[in-house]
Amino acid sequence: AKRAPTVIIVGAGMSGISAAKTLSDAGIKRILILEATNRIGGRMYKANFSGVSVELGANWVSGVGGPQVNPIWIMANKLRLKSFLSNFQNISSNTYKPVGGVYEESVARKAFEVAEQVVEFGTEVSKDLAARKQPDISILTSQRLKNYFPKTPLEMVIDYYLCDFESAEPPRATSLLNSVPSSTYSNFGEDSYFVADPRGYESVVHYVAQQFLTTNAAGQITDPRLQLKKVVTEISRSPRGVAVKTEDGLVHRADYVIVSVSLGVLQNNLIKFHPSLPQWKILALDQFNMAIYTKIFLKFPYKFWPSGNGTEFFLYAHEKRGYYPFWQHLEREFPGENVLFVTVTDDESRRLEQQSDSETKAEIMAVLRNMFGKQIPEATDILVPRWLSNRFYKGSYSNWPIGVSHHQFNQIKAPVGKVYFTGEHTSAAYYGYVHGAYFAGIDTAKLMTSCIKRGACSYSI
Ligand code: FAD
Repeated sequence: AKRAPTVIIVGAGMSGISAAKTLSDAGIKRILILEATNRIGGRMYKANFSGVSVELGANWVSGVGGPQVNPIWIMANKLRLKSFLSNFQNISSNTYKPVGGVYEESVARKAFEVAEQVVEFGTEVSKDLAARKQPDISILTSQRLKNYFPKTPLEMVIDYYLCDFESAEPPRATSLLNSVPSSTYSNFGEDSYFVADPRGYESVVHYVAQQFLTTNAAGQITDPRLQLKKVVTEISRSPRGVAVKTEDGLVHRADYVIVSVSLGVLQNNLIKFHPSLPQWKILALDQFNMAIYTKIFLKFPYKFWPSGNGTEFFLYAHEKRGYYPFWQHLEREFPGENVLFVTVTDDESRRLEQQSDSETKAEIMAVLRNMFGKQIPEATDILVPRWLSNRFYKGSYSNWPIGVSHHQFNQIKAPVGKVYFTGEHTSAAYYGYVHGAYFAGIDTAKLMTSCIKRGACSYSI
């Protein structure tokens, strides 16, 4: 009989593929990757929208130009992935009032300066708390300490842009201690490159996969150790090994398993564990946050927004915080295609996932008419990703909420017997990012390798 694979990896996103490659590099070749969908890449996911290739999930190589080199940037360069440096400098000139055009630049700039000083203050407070080993506070608390209470539409949209646009959750939810200063930007640099390539940002996952999985002449993965359309439903463990059940009724046995599915999938108990996971593990998983970040793409018959240098990003201020706040045109990426997208998060994402795309389009058209006037043309196409509803993701990426200690964070990552965990939500420094998923995969695979090869299986939290 065929010997069982040594390790099963559940999920073929960046972290699962990076874990599998690390095992393979360490000589552990008997692996089986079970992926629910018909593709690899997970939350790195390109889609065709009205003839252009857009990214529904990760879009930026975040953190470039700093003291250390972001490994994802190295891969993007090896692949010559088409990407564009994002310049947010001009955003204060491109901030729109609730109705009737942009704010006067000096007014918006002043409001930005105040808000940016509050962010700097928060960064200092965070460093101070860390140095003195003090408990965590929320970003909101740090704002109150500075006597900052954003309440006008302008103040609220700036606050949204400086906080929610990155963490996908509001200041009251987010941990100050664990989110500022951001390790991504302080270690890898302040720059972000927006990927817009017909091969998709997901091609970096293919790039990692092709280094250890067999491919055909066309570069497609043909390796039988990668199985697509295998939805894992149950994982049983015993001291002897693991049994992983898939929706097709098959049971796959191995010595170990690495679970790389999102925090949202784990929180929703979409994989049953036998025996069930210990209480400390369940509690740790449930304490962390799975945030929602939604990019809504729109196509128009012609361009009616400003284009050229310094116009790419624009904000819409509204009395309801987070109402279609962050906009980007794709004139550099796809000239002449007349594509815009708007980003919403959290409660707004949740709300939009429940309504029809035509309702969302009507809301967006009303917003655009408030910004640009009544005469603008109707969008001819709309694309609304639904990350929360999708049972293979259940949200977009994790966010570190106020009150979760490093001890609890380590519990999220900790193995339970022969069941190991990886994914962006297990990277303490880079949770929420592609590079976080990549590093997490390497870390988990190394942890497992030292258990397999050296019998060093205990994990100290
Ligand atoms: P995943 O990519 O989710 O991989 C897990 C895999 O498990 C998936 O392929 C899934 O299909 C599979 N799976 C799920 N359930 C099962 C099951 N039951 N059985 C088998 N397989 C299963 N990061 C950045 O660095 N820059 C950005 O600009 C950025 N923007 C983002 C925007 C959005 C809208 C989203 C959603 C994410 C964004 N991210 C960004 C985050 C980044 O995409 C993720 O951190 C990273 O891709 C996560 O990789 P992962 O391997 O941890 O998880």
